[in-house]
Amino acid sequence: MTETEKAQFIEMNLMIAKRLEIKGIVQGVGFRPFVFRLAIRHGLTGEVANTSAGVSVRIEGQSMQIEAFCADIVRKKPPLAHITEISEYPETVNGFDNFSITESKTDRNRSTLISPDVSICDECLKEMSDPENRRYRYPFINCTDCGPRYSIISDIPYDRPDTTMRHFKMCRQCQSEYDNPGNRRFHAQPNACEVCGPRVFLCDNTRTGIQTDQPVEKAAELLRQGYILAVKGLGGFHLAADAENHKAVVRLRKRKHREEKPFALMSHSIALICCYAHIRPAEESLLLSHQRPIVILRKKEPNCLSDAVSPRNRYFGVMLPYTPLHYLLLGQNRFMALVMTSGNRSEEPIVSDNEEAFSRLSGIADYFLIHNRDIFVRSDDSIVRSEEAETSNTIRFIRRSRGYVPMPIFLKRAYPQILACGAEMKNTVCLTKGNQAFLSQHIGDLQHSETYSFFTQTISHIRRILDIHPQVIAYDLHPDYLSTRYAQEQQNMRQIPVQHHHAHIMSCMAENQAQTPVIGLAFDGTGYGTDGNLWGGEVLLAETEQFRRIAHLSYIPMPGGAAAIKEPWRMAISYLYSTFGDEMWNLNLPVLKEIEEKKIKFLIEMIRKKIASPLTSSMGRLFDGIAGIMGIRSHVSFEGQAAAELEMLADENTDSVYDCEQISGDIRIIPFQPIIRGVTEDMQKRISLPEISTKFHNTLIRLFSELCEIAGKENGVKQAALSGGVFQNPILSSGLTQALEQKGFQVFTHTRVPPNDGGISLGQALIAAGKVENEE
Ligand SMILES: [Zn+2]
Ligand SMILES: [Zn+2]
Ligand SMILES: [Zn+2]
Repeated sequence: MTETEKAQFIEMNLMIAKRLEIKGIVQGVGFRPFVFRLAIRHGLTGEVANTSAGVSVRIEGQSMQIEAFCADIVRKKPPLAHITEISEYPETVNGFDNFSITESKTDRNRSTLISPDVSICDECLKEMSDPENRRYRYPFINCTDCGPRYSIISDIPYDRPDTTMRHFKMCRQCQSEYDNPGNRRFHAQPNACEVCGPRVFLCDNTRTGIQTDQPVEKAAELLRQGYILAVKGLGGFHLAADAENHKAVVRLRKRKHREEKPFALMSHSIALICCYAHIRPAEESLLLSHQRPIVILRKKEPNCLSDAVSPRNRYFGVMLPYTPLHYLLLGQNRFMALVMTSGNRSEEPIVSDNEEAFSRLSGIADYFLIHNRDIFVRSDDSIVRSEEAETSNTIRFIRRSRGYVPMPIFLKRAYPQILACGAEMKNTVCLTKGNQAFLSQHIGDLQHSETYSFFTQTISHIRRILDIHPQVIAYDLHPDYLSTRYAQEQQNMRQIPVQHHHAHIMSCMAENQAQTPVIGLAFDGTGYGTDGNLWGGEVLLAETEQFRRIAHLSYIPMPGGAAAIKEPWRMAISYLYSTFGDEMWNLNLPVLKEIEEKKIKFLIEMIRKKIASPLTSSMGRLFDGIAGIMGIRSHVSFEGQAAAELEMLADENTDSVYDCEQISGDIRIIPFQPIIRGVTEDMQKRISLPEISTKFHNTLIRLFSELCEIAGKENGVKQAALSGGVFQNPILSSGLTQALEQKGFQVFTHTRVPPNDGGISLGQALIAAGKVENEE
């Protein structure tokens, strides 16, 4: 050995010490045991602990081993872990004897990410089905790779005392699994078994316990007999009924006051779902993903399920089981499918607490399958659909909640901390920290007092567990939204109002980490405009802090305001009257026959005298109006129903379009009259409804892609963004994307947050952050 080689040899064998601070989703996902095993494998000593900022590792050994160890942390991390940052610091050698996992250190900087709830893993499922295993048929089996997380955490760091598992003291066997680094339940915080853990109970709706050794079996039997059960799940209660039992499903609709809005389904396996719905490969992987969302699937017709599950709809919303209890309840082949709809009275937040369940659901459910593991944070099931394009499949969120929350949306850079309050319907809130935006779970419609308290609780909970202290609050321009009132009540915060459609477009730009300016198409039901009218068919030239309205659908009276949303015939008459005047009466249209003449005349009086008839440029209302004129629907039981039925008709293979035009000016106006005239003419000619619907969709695609082209040239912009609830319509979103790409645009759409008002808080946050930065 030469002197240099000797020196190198000594250096290589020299003991060094390092500290690693790891951030991201590194708690509750088996990260410390993983680090422990890795350190042993590389022959290193030291310790690992959870901190409020993530995981801290002290490591000692030879530098080469330490390097290999660090590389492996990134390369081999556990499946549910998500590392956002690793910082390395030199330390003095301490002379550890071994490697150990130490108690959590609470630190003042709380910036760890919290894992969403995770569906049961294959290993646990196998153990639960093994009669030899001590957790055979135990409904709360879990491990470091699966089980409840966000829903049971009351504070961080994520350790058992700060979860709703604190009431259960582990038995000797569970404790030894928990303490053994070689065990797959090592430091699994919700670890439990039949002896020491939570239990299931079956009660009737007077809270009287049903005497049985096998409550889950008994519950399944009751479902088989046609009873409705309230079943406690991961983020809240479900109302369950046998989906093949028509009477039971109809009874559930009656009791829940939910006329036609589709019910979600749960089946034991992909094979069973295949019996009643079509599954494409992209949809299968969404169904099987550990987030276990409800996936929108095309129905097979005919099928064996009750017609009342999803009436007058082409689709079913279906999910696979995600808790061990679900698997036990459904059994291998016991049910084709169960209706599993959120346990609430319509539009109230999902019930999560046993007491609350008995008081709020006893008029709906006959029996209650409950348990004594508390849900700290409620969250509804997420809903997604897969949109098939030529080259790739795109995931579209309709609701982003359980399984995805509280994973952040990563922004393109760091921004000031903001609290954004969202809109009124499908409310979510958003808090930003650094380059991360945390969207809350689905909160719902704020008009209900229960939902409003859920809204305020969610804000304080997320602020606490993520240690975010925003000085700025963003909210919708609408003066009457409860989220607006909440924002205006916050004394010590700077208040920034944000226009609704500007927020939609920036939400799309934020999740795509894209630069502005952009031409934004914002199509939705309604949003408050800067002129006090209700906007919703908007073309905006948008930047982060500001926007300019380039074009919009021409204004139309919305007779009766909110009543016009529930009764599309009102919009139909408004469009017909604005287009034809009194000539309207000569038309041969179903809506003019179905609705009493007296009522129509009264409505026209309202329009003429401008009584309770706010002006709107909403695309959603145009869909309603067309659906009304075509006789698809004069009344709806939930918002967007008529529009969805109009969309589902459109599958004719035709390129034809209706005449359309635009009136130039400072702001271009898109008159609806030529479209209404075209549709009406086709109705007189008895052209088929599918063809009319297809032509209507083609018209919008042609019209708005051409408008973007002109606006793009005028403003030197080659980017477009599509946002707003109307873009849940796959024909419109894929059609416009394609048309705009053909014109050379880079098109941004939503794939991480919903295009509807559930995504709006993200846009509000980004706009407010931009304004704050601009002033500094
Ligand atoms: Zn597991
Ligand atoms: Zn135990
Ligand atoms: Zn909206």
